[in-house]
This record gives sequence, C-alpha cells and structure tokens, in this order.
Amino acid sequence: MTKSLVVAGGGIAGMAAGFAAARVGWHATVFERAAEFSEVGAGVQLGPNVTRILQAWGLGDALAQVAAFPSGLHARSMNTGEVLATLPVKDAAKTYAAPYVTIHRADLHGLLLHAAVREGVQVHSDAVVQKVSQSFDEAVFDVVQYGQPQQHTAAVAVAADGVWSPLRQQLLGDGLPTFTGHIAYRALVAQADLPAHLRSQDVSVWMGSQAHVVSYPVRGGEYLNVVCLAEGRLLDDDANNLQSLQTWNAQKTEAQTLAELHHALRDACTPLTDLMAACSDWRLWPLCGRPVMQGAHQHVQGRVALLGDAAHPMLPYLAQGAGMAVEDAYELAAQLLGATAANAPDRLQQFARTRWQRNARVQARAVRNGQIFHATGPMRMGRDMGLRLMGARLMDVPWLYGYR
Ligand SMILES: Cc1cc2nc3c(=O)[nH]c(=O)nc-3n(C[C@H](O)[C@H](O)[C@H](O)COP(=O)(O)OP(=O)(O)OC[C@H]3O[C@@H](n4cnc5c(N)ncnc54)[C@H](O)[C@@H]3O)c2cc1C
Repeated sequence: MTKSLVVAGGGIAGMAAGFAAARVGWHATVFERAAEFSEVGAGVQLGPNVTRILQAWGLGDALAQVAAFPSGLHARSMNTGEVLATLPVKDAAKTYAAPYVTIHRADLHGLLLHAAVREGVQVHSDAVVQKVSQSFDEAVFDVVQYGQPQQHTAAVAVAADGVWSPLRQQLLGDGLPTFTGHIAYRALVAQADLPAHLRSQDVSVWMGSQAHVVSYPVRGGEYLNVVCLAEGRLLDDDANNLQSLQTWNAQKTEAQTLAELHHALRDACTPLTDLMAACSDWRLWPLCGRPVMQGAHQHVQGRVALLGDAAHPMLPYLAQGAGMAVEDAYELAAQLLGATAANAPDRLQQFARTRWQRNARVQARAVRNGQIFHATGPMRMGRDMGLRLMGARLMDVPWLYGYR
C-alpha cells in the first residue's frame, strides 16, 4: 500500500488535512458532499496559534491579502457600550511571533483549497462518503459521486465531515450532537454602507444578559462581520430541522429571525442597536455540540482519524473551532512525515495522544467563556470590575496562543 490518505469533508479541517499531508509526501484525496464550495459564510477570528501554522505552510502572504489585522479586541458592556478592557491583539505579532487576524470563512477556505490543489491534492465535489471500513492494512471509503457508487482504498482515512459527521456515528456510535441552547444570528455588512461612527477595524465583544454580540472586519477590512450569540429556545420548526440550518448559507424567514434577534438585544445600548439595524440578511445558526472530549479514542480508531468539528465541536466563544481544525491538520502531518503505510496506525495513535487533551481544554474554556460573557447579577458586576482592573491580563490566553 502506498502512502495514501482519503478525506471525507472538504471544509477547513478536511482541506487543511489534505494539504498538510500532501506537503509531507502523502497522496491525498478529498471528497466533499457539496456540489460546489459556497461563497456565503461568516467571519472567523484566527489567533497567533493558527496564523503561525499558516505561515509555516507558506501561506502568510496569501493570508495577508484577504485577512484584516485588527489592533484591539474590546470587551464592552452591551447595556452602556462602555469599553471595559482592551486586548491589544496587534501585539500578537511581537508576543507570539504571529498575527491575530479576522477573515471571511470563504477566504480562509479558498486559500486552503488553492494551496491543496497546487500541492497535488485531488479534490472531488458532489462526492458523498457513505461508509468507512477498515482492515489490518487499509481503510476504505464507500463514496457516491454524481450518483455513481465507488470504493476508494487508502492507508489512512480522515473523517472531517463536520459536527453532524456520519462517519463518527459509524466509528464511535455515540449518537447525534444536541442543541446547546445557544443560537447564532449572523450578518455581513459593507463598511461603506455604514455611517462613519459604526465602521470599525477592531474586534468588539458586547456582553449582555444571556447574549453577546461580536463584530470584526473581514475581506481585508471592507466588510464588518456581526454575530449575535444568544441563549434561547428554538421554534418547533427549527428544532426539527437542526441539521438543515447547519450550513453556512442556510437562511430563515427574515421577519422571524429579526423578532428573535430583537428579543435577545432588548437591553442593548444605542450604538449597538444602530449597528444591528444597519445589517440585513440575518442568518440563524442553532449551535449544536457534544460533551468535551474524553480520550484519544475519540480522535483515532485504527487507520481512521477524526478531525475538526467531527471530533470536537465547540461553542464559538473562544473563536477557535477552525483554529483547532488547522492545528489538528498540522499535527497529523507531523506524524505522517516519515511514516509508512504499515506504521501509520501507530503514528495516528501518537497524533491522538498529542491532540485530544488540548482540544478538550479549548472546548471546556469555550463553555466557560460563554458563562462569563452572558453573566447576570453579582457575577456580571464582578466580571466588569475584574475587566476594568486587570484589563488585557484577564483577556490574554498564553497557553492557547503560544502553542507550538
Ligand atoms: C457562529 C460561528 C462563529 C465561529 N467563529 C469562529 C472563529 O472566530 N474562529 C474559529 O476558529 N472558529 C470559529 N467557528 C468554528 C468554525 O467555523 C468550525 O469549527 C469549523 O468551520 C469546522 O470546520 P470543519 O471542517 O471541521 O467542519 P465543517 O466546516 O462543517 O466542514 C465539514 C464538511 O464536510 C462535508 N461533509 C459532511 N458530510 C459529508 C460526507 N458524508 N461526505 C463528504 N462530505 C461531507 C460538509 O459539506 C462540509 O463541507 C465559528 C462557528 C460558528 C457557528
């Protein structure tokens, strides 16, 4: 068997894994169920732990062409608009030797896709991986492409098929993810369409009761990505259609989405309500997840590795879901470097042992951040006081950003 790797899912995790494996001499093939890669999407923040990897992969210049480079991350009160503390993220380039950037998801994905194709990765769209199976010396995907069933055999298989991962069901049999009780409402607005006082090249996190809003620049700073994250219940219709709402271009009836959004922001200050009112085309995303990872077995089973949201879906409150997918891909390639088809399962075990605790820690910290962002009563007063007094020291996360 040659050094070959098949990947289910052409999202951030799958594309990064295919590219990273090809860079270290593996023949990689990615199967993506969608007929085409969507331009619609939202923004993502990438900490220096992630941009350091993109730079190491030779993608620093391409990143600089599409990303925005905010100078500060402001923690603000949703009620009053007061800036409670600022993390000077522009210093990341000095402190962590890599920048803190904000980017449109489609730009990040496009960058990885082009790099993968350049590196010789075979990318198949309209290709659904229906089943993964394995023997002592190979892994097999059953794929339906353009309606035609096929089998693809490789030394290593990667399940990067997202939070609803059908392959995870086959490998771990631990049921479907569940609704977390948190809903994201996303919008993108051209900065040119905003009045001057609402334009921004920085990250703002507006913290309120059981809800917060995050805004930051994307597309080189030309657009502002605005996301409201609120605790709430889903309408019956949405609860029954969770999976169909979990695509980057899913859209709900505008009036219904707006009513839910207004309720979440009922106590917001004027600048924030002005910003929200200036945005249109809101998209709703019910956040679904799983308990924090319990062990290495949730990352690897024999010749099959689970990466990204398929392995460790997380609330976006530490802004690291895509980041952990990139770190997974980097570590996978580090293990595949110099590996053979025969010893690949041992290397995958090493990958799993290296990754699972960090991913579990990030998942847990994201949950805790949500509790802090959405605090009410005395806990909220304590949070605000702490931020005013300790400022950036409370917001920096050296164990996360300094990862090598
Ligand atoms: C509101 C919000 C804000 C976020 N903000 C940030 C942020 O600031 N920073 C950050 O790092 N992360 C952020 N994230 C998280 C990040 O978007 C995800 O963690 C990341 O996109 C996961 O990538 P993935 O490739 O694992 O999964 P996905 O992006 O879900 O990709 C999975 C792919 O697999 C395909 N697929 C599924 N089943 C099959 C099959 N059977 N066969 C073939 N293909 C299949 C799907 O079509 C899809 O293309 C945010 C998420 C949300 C919802």
